[in-house]
Amino acid sequence: MSDRGPKTSANVEMKLKTRRIRVMEGKEAISIFHNDETEDPDQKKDFDLTLHLLDTQTGRGEELECDAVVWATGAGAPLWLRNCDLPLDEQGFVIVSSTLQSPADWRVFAAGDCACFVSDADLASAAAPKERRGLPKAGVYAVREGPIVAENVLRLARALLFGAEDGQEARSVILEPYVPQTTFLALLNTCDGEAISSWHEKSSVAGWVMRLKDYIDRRFMDRFNAALLGPSPVPPR
Ligand SMILES: Cc1cc2nc3c(=O)[nH]c(=O)nc-3n(C[C@H](O)[C@H](O)[C@H](O)COP(=O)(O)OP(=O)(O)OC[C@H]3O[C@@H](n4cnc5c(N)ncnc54)[C@H](O)[C@@H]3O)c2cc1C
Repeated sequence: MSDRGPKTSANVEMKLKTRRIRVMEGKEAISIFHNDETEDPDQKKDFDLTLHLLDTQTGRGEELECDAVVWATGAGAPLWLRNCDLPLDEQGFVIVSSTLQSPADWRVFAAGDCACFVSDADLASAAAPKERRGLPKAGVYAVREGPIVAENVLRLARALLFGAEDGQEARSVILEPYVPQTTFLALLNTCDGEAISSWHEKSSVAGWVMRLKDYIDRRFMDRFNAALLGPSPVPPR
């Protein structure tokens, strides 16, 4: 949460402390091993798993004995993208322009977590593709990019099938640009009846934040609840 400002970081640290959760910073998890079952009391380990860590400062390896490991890292790019002839950012996400198209191929769209959105001005700059920094991997961006991709794919499909309205080539059809919001409200459920909010530099921890999160989440999920959607549209003949 360090990118959400000092107040949010302080609130997260406070919550972790009250829940007696130890945070080890500057350590990279590199592998997990099952401890061998042995009857030898000298060899026998107290825990089932060993997590291997790398200290990112010293480069030294460390071992941490564990009962269980919950691996909760950030979003990763699918490996098969590396075999495609598309510009990718440093982490392997597909670079897209404001119309959510790959700059290498106008027929390829990418949106949501798999994409690295780059503004048209940045795309025209001299920065190497690997240096591009996309948007945070958060649902708020994916959800709003979806309708733009849908609209743009339809416009291209129409132009390819029926010809562009003004006789242009399909690749020159004017597409809808995606304009990302500059920030978003983050609400983190701390599973004790409270949640942490993060909005610009402001942050709160309270029960009302959890109730707000619950209201927003339920309202969003209700959009996909078949019982609330009404009858499906009749398919065209
Ligand atoms: C635990 C967790 C909690 C989160 N909470 C929040 C939150 O509270 N608020 C928020 O804004 N964001 C949250 N996020 C982030 C949010 O879920 C993602 O940013 C969002 O789901 C991205 O949407 P997407 O459609 O790009 O990708 P996804 O939702 O990951 O959808 C990708 C789909 O593509 C499918 N797929 C993958 N590879 C292939 C393939 N080769 N062929 C066919 N299909 C394939 C996958 O099965 C999946 O169904 C959370 C993420 C996680 C993991």
